Amino acid sequence: MCGIVGYVGKKDNCVRVLIDGLEKLEYRGYDSAGIAYFNGEKINIVKESGKLENLKNIVNFNDQSQIGIGHTRWATHGGAKKQNSHPHKIGKFTIVHNGIIENYANLKNDLIKKGYTFNSDTDTEVACALIDYLYENDKNIANVIKKANEIMIGSYAIGILCDDEPNNLYVIKNKSPLIIGVSEDEKFIASDVPAILDKTDNYISLDDGDYGVITKDNIKLYNSGKEKEFKIQKFEFDADLMDKKGYPHYMLKEIHEQPDVFKKTVNPYINNDFDGLMKKMPDFTKYSKVRIVACGSATHAALVGKQMLEEYGNVKTDVETASEFRYSKPFLNKDELVIVISQSGETADTLEALKLAKDNKNDTLGIINAKGSSIARCSNMVLYTEAGKEIAVATTKAYSAQVAMLSLIALNLSCKKNLISKEEMMDILKSVRNLPNQMQELLDKNDEYEQIAKKLAEHNDIFFIGRKVDYALAQEGSLKLKEISYTHSEAYAAGELKHGTISLIESGTPVIAIVTDDFIAPKTISNMIEVKSRGADVLYITNRNNDEDDKLYDNRIIIPRTHKLFQPLLTIIPLQKIAYEVAKIKGCNIDKPKNLAKSVTVE
Ligand code: GLU
Repeated sequence: MCGIVGYVGKKDNCVRVLIDGLEKLEYRGYDSAGIAYFNGEKINIVKESGKLENLKNIVNFNDQSQIGIGHTRWATHGGAKKQNSHPHKIGKFTIVHNGIIENYANLKNDLIKKGYTFNSDTDTEVACALIDYLYENDKNIANVIKKANEIMIGSYAIGILCDDEPNNLYVIKNKSPLIIGVSEDEKFIASDVPAILDKTDNYISLDDGDYGVITKDNIKLYNSGKEKEFKIQKFEFDADLMDKKGYPHYMLKEIHEQPDVFKKTVNPYINNDFDGLMKKMPDFTKYSKVRIVACGSATHAALVGKQMLEEYGNVKTDVETASEFRYSKPFLNKDELVIVISQSGETADTLEALKLAKDNKNDTLGIINAKGSSIARCSNMVLYTEAGKEIAVATTKAYSAQVAMLSLIALNLSCKKNLISKEEMMDILKSVRNLPNQMQELLDKNDEYEQIAKKLAEHNDIFFIGRKVDYALAQEGSLKLKEISYTHSEAYAAGELKHGTISLIESGTPVIAIVTDDFIAPKTISNMIEVKSRGADVLYITNRNNDEDDKLYDNRIIIPRTHKLFQPLLTIIPLQKIAYEVAKIKGCNIDKPKNLAKSVTVE
């Protein structure tokens, strides 16, 4: 969500560096873009609403500059228009900001009384005016930033230029991500390491409350008034990951990477035996309950995990949405494990939920994809999913890696609690070995998905139904469709439909019914019959190959069977592929859907 870049160095091509950096951050989602740089005597600001292309068309790449900041904005305060886009300049200060200044309204009123006027609706401009105001009384910018840090409430990563100090780039970080890229006589700032990887792979990860000043050959960081030591880390980068490898979209490439991601995530724990599972995974048997807190697709992965943890791990598991949980009375038992799940490890709501659990003195486990991210660093225990870099905004491979990890935890509990037989363990080994091929088999059914997508693309409202684990998968399937094809869809617990929503089913209404759990299958099938009797056009996605009455459905996708712990990893594939095909037919921007951001760093 939003991207910040900054440069200070000996080269004159700052404008190019800023634009290149913003391009690399485009995947995070944004609605306007801008840059500010010193060219000789003054700061030049160029900004435009819409795509980066619009900014590139008006920027002068020949302008020489050695210091500047850039931003892609994901509007929170004020519409997505040029006037609200960053950088903002007030008095002597020019800033870019990611996040939200929650007390901006009070601050704005105070600053208006002090004579400031504002050109935008943003909270960012208020932060800029605050810094300028504090500077009136204290010309030491590090002191000013410290004070601003104490006054501002909210989440913010900020890059700052001051007219009076043309060689210095200032930064503040609180709850929004920010890194500093380090090379000998050039320094960079960015929301994420990929923005600067073609320049350097050495970086410093900033902590909440950090602020500092960066010049071309020096970095000084502070926290709470004290200068702090910092560690320069090395980013391990696989250039292949940024390549679409011949696929038209990153999303399709990432869907097709799932067999490999499954192997990478599961193999350290289950290979030819369960040694890794027993030795490398922490012991979770001491917890009487589990609470999983997450956002978006990670919540849907958690809902699959709940089924697995309860059935195989025999541990009561509740799932909560991070943005709700963080403001609730958590009612956590002392011996309750809190699991937080996030692909980026920077999701603002999940990070705050994690802090709430830690304040409550509960043990916390992060299931995270991005190594060394804020949530990974803040959790007591971390299990990394090995999905690799995910570029498409709508998650696919990271989601399935999260599901796989939760199934591994459930299995670990089952083994440690002696709840599983030797025969079933053997069956699991066999299933794990076969699963990548079964995934591939499903990935290759392109014609089937295309045919179904053609039909679905004609409709504005689509329903997904399922029970238990299939309901959790229905929710993820529905979200995928909404995210990338902008089609309204709803996921329902199949048994709940008759309590209201069935009134919306009429002749031709598409209903996607997911049936993979033998225990509950007859019940869901009855619900399919109910909607079919009311004229629904039913797509039946099932692992049951037992010649059901073909009057039950209009189309059917048979998915291979595997052990129940890993079945969701197969079921999700047709749902992802269908969403992708519908979005393609509708001509949507599949990798960067409108209004969405990859790493949701505002609450
Ligand atoms: N809250 C700021 C705005 O609306 C920054 C949003 C962002 O993170 O891009 O301008």
